[in-house]
Amino acid sequence: MASPNTAPSPGEVSGAALPAKLKASCHCGRVSIELPSPPDKLNECRCTVCYKYGALWAYFPRDTLAVATAEGGTVEAYVRADSDGYLSFNRCGHCGGMTHWLGLGEYAGPKRKAGVNCRLLPEKDIEGIPREVNYC
Ligand SMILES: [Zn+2]
Repeated sequence: MASPNTAPSPGEVSGAALPAKLKASCHCGRVSIELPSPPDKLNECRCTVCYKYGALWAYFPRDTLAVATAEGGTVEAYVRADSDGYLSFNRCGHCGGMTHWLGLGEYAGPKRKAGVNCRLLPEKDIEGIPREVNYC
């Protein structure tokens, strides 16, 4: 938080009420993800793994997501055996909440698509956002 005597950093608009960034957080709060903007749509992916996780995905370029772990927090990964190792499903090591997926190998670049489980956002933050049933 900037103090009133601190000059705004480049790109910061002084005095303007900037919209708060959305922050997704697992149940125990040890893993959180800051989204660059509100999702414009949400996907209830029905692939074999997402269906079982009950995830509700929004997709962003990987380098626009800020994944943070609180003290004692860890992120654990599941790489599905039938994916040729290109996709990592990530969860909180404490509460087990599915948090996000990332591409691996040639799909790991900073501009590559990544998925955030928007079930980790407060309900009010996802109300009214169109939903689709597709594959991630
Ligand atoms: Zn957790």
